[in-house]
Amino acid sequence: MNYERLDSDKKDILLIDDMANNLRVLSSLLAREGYNVRKALNWQMALTACQTVLPDLILLDIMMPEVDGYEVCQRLKAWELTADIPVIFISALDDVFDKVKAFRVGGVDYITKPFELEEVLVRVQNQLALRTAKLEIIKLNVELEQRVKQRTTELEKALQKLQGEIAYRQQLQSKLLDIALHDSLTGLPNRVLFIRRLEKALNRAKQQSDYQFAILYLDCDRFKVVNDSLGHLVGDELLLSISHRLQASLMSTDTLARLGGDEFAILLENPIDINQVIKVAELILKQLSLTFKLSRYEVFMNASIGIAWGNRDYERPEYVLRDADTAMYRAKALGRARYHVFDPVMYQEAIQLLELENDLRRAVARQEFIVYYQPIVSLITGRIAGFEALVRWQHPIRGLILPTEFIPVAEETGLINIINTWVLQSACQQLRSWQHHPAISETLTISVNLSARLFAQPNLIAQIDEIIDATKVNPANLELEITESVIMENRDAVKIVLQQLQEREIKLIMDDFGTGYSSLSYLHSFPLNGLKIDKSFVKRMQENQEDMGLVPAMIGIAESMGMRVIAEGVETIEQLALLRSLNCEFAQGYLFSKPIEQKSVINLLAAAPQW
Ligand code: C2E
Ligand code: MG
Ligand code: MG
Repeated sequence: MNYERLDSDKKDILLIDDMANNLRVLSSLLAREGYNVRKALNWQMALTACQTVLPDLILLDIMMPEVDGYEVCQRLKAWELTADIPVIFISALDDVFDKVKAFRVGGVDYITKPFELEEVLVRVQNQLALRTAKLEIIKLNVELEQRVKQRTTELEKALQKLQGEIAYRQQLQSKLLDIALHDSLTGLPNRVLFIRRLEKALNRAKQQSDYQFAILYLDCDRFKVVNDSLGHLVGDELLLSISHRLQASLMSTDTLARLGGDEFAILLENPIDINQVIKVAELILKQLSLTFKLSRYEVFMNASIGIAWGNRDYERPEYVLRDADTAMYRAKALGRARYHVFDPVMYQEAIQLLELENDLRRAVARQEFIVYYQPIVSLITGRIAGFEALVRWQHPIRGLILPTEFIPVAEETGLINIINTWVLQSACQQLRSWQHHPAISETLTISVNLSARLFAQPNLIAQIDEIIDATKVNPANLELEITESVIMENRDAVKIVLQQLQEREIKLIMDDFGTGYSSLSYLHSFPLNGLKIDKSFVKRMQENQEDMGLVPAMIGIAESMGMRVIAEGVETIEQLALLRSLNCEFAQGYLFSKPIEQKSVINLLAAAPQW
């Protein structure tokens, strides 16, 4: 069925009346006015007409047989398609006409018969105009709705885009934040994030008396060696493995962070007590001591851990970290591969160390160092064969400070280079001036200790050459003492330097022999002239009369390698006798003389003591 209007220009009016005469009069009138008029004599015909084309207006007679006008109207109103078509009732005055009923069933107007043609036309035009306006409104409404719909979808789209953009920006921002707060290699929180978490923990501790926390500061002991010798890629691989092992040793509530380099920090929240924290440290140390099987190498590692127990009295999170760091340094100083728990005394000591460091810098600038000399005695002649130069620091307030106190600091800060070359220079100068003395033998030697740090200086040989040149000392009278660790830590480079020294006839002595871990096979391949037995062995020799400890073996080793032996720390006549009985060639110790000032040396030599 097609409900479209046939002629869209002409309005279509349906007349429903059982009186053919009425129909004819009305239809000719309306047709004359330019309307398209259709006629129906009863409900059935009206329905068919509507089903064919929907009229724009219906004129409906009330009094009809079978289905009357009211009923027709009701049916039309009940049908969705015709519900909106305006219905004007037509009624003869003698009908029992009920206007109210007419409106109630859906009529819009009424015309009484006999009708005035003018009136019919006006009422029809009115209703049609109303209907047109109504339809126009509906159309506009639909259009408006469509527009709104369209705008809404447009807006929705724009909104979606905007939301997408926002989400992207947020993602980007959190990514940036992530980068800023995490270590790129391990993905662990970095120092900034760690301090933030620490700050939270500290604030919580300040508010909640039952909340506690602790920090572990971890530094890998041999990481630099691995990194330098096997390369950064292997170093990175190792760091990753370390971080995995650390993570595996912790609970999910703990924060593990990489502070940089080979340093990690761990925040333990709500540990029961310090023992629980220590257990974590022990577990970590155990885990790290197992071999690391990397893609191309197997590597051994150890770590030193400092522990700080957090408490509400800390003003800033950084201070907790600082204390854990201090404790870590103590763990390193105590021999590495261990943990140490911070106690406030250590903070004082750390401060003192810092002061010492500052003082030391000043001391270098002000040349506050002096060299003491301790005789080395030939046990064959019983006479002084040489001196060992031992540096002291004449501190303006604290007085004389021994090297054991400041040399480690000097080494850590790099100041040792200046200090040590200065000692070498002064000792050589001194030897030269003594040799002018008639009472003093041409063969008198001077021994100078060389710090391991000096071997990292590329111009060490040039500096020594310069000193020899400037002081005119005979290099054959110069002995350089180096410790085992120097040789062992940097074998190849040190070997070359030692060879160059030996080419200049400078004597090379291994100091503190026995305290390190050198294997004899390595010793053998180094151009050494002598071994200095550490005083701890000389001391034990007497306690251990039957076998005299390791000293006989050490002397045997030196002999077999064609090296001379110097026994250090000889304090008693008994020790001297024992050493003599073992054919030890040289000895040094308080028995002969303590280290003395340069001006006392001439007197000592002039007295020509013999033991
Ligand atoms: P060292 O080279 O092993 O020097 C021997 C140390 O033992 C000296 O301590 C000496 O005073 C001490 N000593 C000598 N005889 C006896 C004794 O009979 N009994 C006891 N108990 N000790 C004795 P000092 O002068 O305190 O030097 C300590 C260390 O400082 C030296 O050990 C050396 O490693 C280092 N050192 C000293 N001067 C220098 C220097 O100019 N450069 C470098 N790099 N290190 C130096
Ligand atoms: Mg020495
Ligand atoms: Mg020594």
